[in-house]
Amino acid sequence: MPTIHIQEVGRVKETKKSIAKITGLTQCMIGQLMRLSDHARGIVVGFSRGEAVVFLLGRIEEVRIGDLAYSLMEPFTIPVGEGFLGRVVNALAEPIDGKGFIGEVGHGEYPVFRKAPGVLQRVPITRTFETGVFIVDATIPIGKGQRELIIGDRMTGKTSICMDALLNQKGKGVVCIYCCVGRTYTSLLKAIETFKETGALGYTIVVAAHAASPSGEQYLVPYTACALGEYFMDHGRDVFVVFDDLTKHAWVYRQLSLLLERPPGRDAYPGDIFYLHSQLMERAGQYSPEFGGGSMTFFPIVDTLHGDVTGYIPSNLISMTDGQIYMNTSLFNSGFRPAIDLGLSVSRIGNKVQSPVMRELTAMLRLEYMRYNELLKIARFRTNVSGQTDQRLREGEVLTQLFLQINGEPHPVARQIIFLYALRRKILLTMPATEIDYFKKNIYDFAQRKYPDVIDELVGKMEWTPQLRRRLDECFFEFFMERGVVIKSLESSR
Ligand code: ATP
Ligand code: MG
Repeated sequence: MPTIHIQEVGRVKETKKSIAKITGLTQCMIGQLMRLSDHARGIVVGFSRGEAVVFLLGRIEEVRIGDLAYSLMEPFTIPVGEGFLGRVVNALAEPIDGKGFIGEVGHGEYPVFRKAPGVLQRVPITRTFETGVFIVDATIPIGKGQRELIIGDRMTGKTSICMDALLNQKGKGVVCIYCCVGRTYTSLLKAIETFKETGALGYTIVVAAHAASPSGEQYLVPYTACALGEYFMDHGRDVFVVFDDLTKHAWVYRQLSLLLERPPGRDAYPGDIFYLHSQLMERAGQYSPEFGGGSMTFFPIVDTLHGDVTGYIPSNLISMTDGQIYMNTSLFNSGFRPAIDLGLSVSRIGNKVQSPVMRELTAMLRLEYMRYNELLKIARFRTNVSGQTDQRLREGEVLTQLFLQINGEPHPVARQIIFLYALRRKILLTMPATEIDYFKKNIYDFAQRKYPDVIDELVGKMEWTPQLRRRLDECFFEFFMERGVVIKSLESSR
């Protein structure tokens, strides 16, 4: 057991829900940990009239007025290390999955509120972060070390996109962290269950403060998740963190601030909420090779009300991330899932993180899709459209059908490239929807079975060669031959 050096002793003067005021401390500092009872802790967040104000953590009902409060005179730190993989912990990094003590020691402790890496420690983002969501990887490519906001109304598939990205990291050596902030207990359990079923828990840490946890813990939990990730990043690993979701985080902080009688600002949020979130987002990034070359990729989730992206918290977060994936309710309801609105979604890192093959195949895709959507609106009112327009509409239709993807089934890159190549070869244009569906479902397995060399090459080298194209053509030809469909363009290229 580590020894504890108590430096100062104060007394609880007042408690108000999950906040306490403590007198008698002359030297304590903001961000430090207080020990209030065996199972209750506090984190100092400010001072008023000679009292220290603390957010209570742990068993807050044990704290009574008049209790002694022990100040440890050090910044709030948590243990970190490999032992956390596969575990569920709370905001204090204590296990809550009933699997007992997280044994591994010797990795030291990390401060929860650590300073973000400086400019000289970082390098530009150049490596792809594969989400496995076809529409994202093809049109909004994400890089390792990027912060991509997932924004949208309630029930639009925000969590599902992040879960898919997380499941897609299987076998890729990426450490994943799912940080639950203020979600219901059942939705947390559902997420954990999904990780267990899919085998993702082995490379994942769940850091949770659900809706019934003390507000102080909900406030703290994203920083804990960050600190746990930083350990791996410092050791040259790639880390992926999902914050589900920061709207709740802002709410909790607003609640706590109002209880503290701090002056409310816009939408009654305290003025420092911007600082709070930007400080968090800064901690993502890509380390330079001298610092180990590790990275942290963030997917913060934020809720909007009736699609309003100009709300205070959403617009703050848009300004401090490298892009956003906007989920649209009407698209979701119309069955276009994942319901990503390509008009409002961007990745400011851009296609430089894509492999040459992906870059070539997706160069105009986003534009084509947007043009198709515009065309669709006009074509609805006109009955006689030109042949060229008809062709464009048909291409758009096929593209839309390829973009549809059920959650829980991330697509490997090779599968995405096969889809994109089929699109470029225009072989799906003449086919009915059922045939395209059959193609979507089976072509990858078929290629794996009959053309494993093609898949290996797509995964390994990711370079376009005439030989590779020819082999893919052959693969398509054989696939459709089995279905009794002969494609003219493929026939002529044989
Ligand atoms: P909340 O606002 O409650 O957090 P959310 O925006 O995170 O919701 P999800 O929980 O991810 O949304 O998804 C809502 C529902 O939509 C779920 O039942 C999920 O299974 C379904 N769903 C999400 N994505 C897809 C998809 N690509 N295909 C089919 N169903 C989907
Ligand atoms: Mg959700």
